Parts: sequence; structure tokens; C-alpha cells
Amino acid sequence: MLAGLKEVLMQATRDKRAIAAFNVPNLEMVKAAIQAAEELDVPVILQHAEGHNSLISLEEIGPIMMDYAKRSKVPVVVHLDHGKSLKAIITAIKIGFTSVMIDASDKPFEENILLTKEIVKIAHSSGVDVEAELGHVFTSSLGGGEGREPDDDLIGMNDDIYTDPELAKSFVEQTGVDCLAVAFGTVHGIYLKEPRLDLERVRQIQQKVEIPLVMHGGSGVSKEDYHVAISNGIAKINYYTYANQNGARAIRQAFEKDTKGEYFLENYLAEVTGALKEDYCKALKIFSE
Ligand SMILES: [Zn+2]
Repeated sequence: MLAGLKEVLMQATRDKRAIAAFNVPNLEMVKAAIQAAEELDVPVILQHAEGHNSLISLEEIGPIMMDYAKRSKVPVVVHLDHGKSLKAIITAIKIGFTSVMIDASDKPFEENILLTKEIVKIAHSSGVDVEAELGHVFTSSLGGGEGREPDDDLIGMNDDIYTDPELAKSFVEQTGVDCLAVAFGTVHGIYLKEPRLDLERVRQIQQKVEIPLVMHGGSGVSKEDYHVAISNGIAKINYYTYANQNGARAIRQAFEKDTKGEYFLENYLAEVTGALKEDYCKALKIFSE
């Protein structure tokens, strides 16, 4: 069934667990995410990043995500991830998404507030919840796009990179967002070196803002770090890269299994869906423990 982001995250906070948010830019991922959540009987968030429009457009995948969410046995939030343009946000709301992210984290603090506030007004008037981002979650040069890993010298030295608890408080008060993506050392894509997370910062932010917090770049974080992050206030974990890689590995294995060389595409896609489901189940279990 279709569910709202805020209600699902508030419940997760009470249960001391996090809800997985899977980016699903193809049908195999949509199906596997729903199957995994139903098997474990937990809520799930299906999300589409505006940056993934090059893979499939919001207009194409959005209605499919909505359809699967409505027919699911578990609560499913349908969410726009990293909304950068007003156009994408309005489109998502029109398709029926129950929440949107406005990502103005690359803008100066005051501008981020103004933009986020405006989106909150528009979204809330349609009953749609809003995630915003303060600080900056970097993108790895592997798997996440064209960016690079943050400079070691910058980590902890610059509040524009790691979320500042006091600024977070002011940001949440002024914008009225429902949940906040925070930067504490996670990276989009593949970690090129062992992540060093400032988990204490998450706790400090949570004490100031009292709304659910969101972890971006959830691939490659250790089970222990996930659990500390969750007990410190993370209620939504964005997870994509590792599932993406495991789906690709399944194709390679399917080639090896296909000794007769029949090359039926449906068999290969079934292997992909199976591998994705297994990977999602693993993540869902860790986040709900
Ligand atoms: Zn992100």
C-alpha cells in the first residue's frame, strides 16, 4: 500500500530501526525491492533520483513505481530523490509521489533555506512530505558520477561539508522539512578508502532537530556503523550502488550457467531480479535489526 514518508520514518524512529530507500531506475529493481520488503514484511521506500533521468525518465518509471507501491502488501513510500528542479518536483507530485527531496545543498545556507521553504509550501499543500539536505554528501569517482572523493584536509574543517548541528536546528525550524539528509562522512558510489564516519555528529544533530535523519551513500558502510547511525537518529538509508553491482554480477554468472549458449534474455533478467532481491533482503535485515 502507498504510504507517507513522515509516518513511516516516525514509526521507524520509535522502533529504533531505519527504512531502506532503494533507487529503482529499471523494472528489475522495482520488482526486487517490493519482493524483498514483502518477504521481510517491512516498509520500503522506492525512489527515483532526478540524476537518473538519463537511465529512465521520471515520467516513465514514476507511474510504474506508483503501481507497484499501491499493489504491495507492505507500506511503500514513493519518493523523488535529489530533486534539483521545480519541474521534477511538480512532476513527481502530479504522478502521485508521497514525498520529494529538494536538494539545494550546493547553495549557500540562506539560499538553501529559501528554496527548501518554497518547496515545503508547495508539497505540503498537496499532502506530500519533504526531505532536504544540509552539508554536502560527496560523490565518489566510482559508481556515483563524475565527482571525486572529499579532500582529507577539508573533512571536519568546513561546516559546509559536514552538517553543523546548530545550523541544522535553524534550518529545520525555518523550513519546516519532514526529514533531513545530513553529511557525516558517507559518500555516494563506491568508497575508495575505508569510510570514516562522524557518528557522534549524527547524535548531536538529532538532539537539536528532533526530526528523522537521512543517510545518503549507504553502500559500503559496516553493519556496526549502520547500527550506531540508526541509534543516533538515522531513520532512512539510501542504498543503491552495491545492489547495482550485484545485479551486474548476476548477469556474468548467468552467462557462465548458460553452457548451451541459449541466450534467452528472460532467463538473464530473472537472475538479475533474484540477485537484487537477495541483496535488498540483506540490507533490509541489517536496517531493521
Ligand atoms: Zn544522495
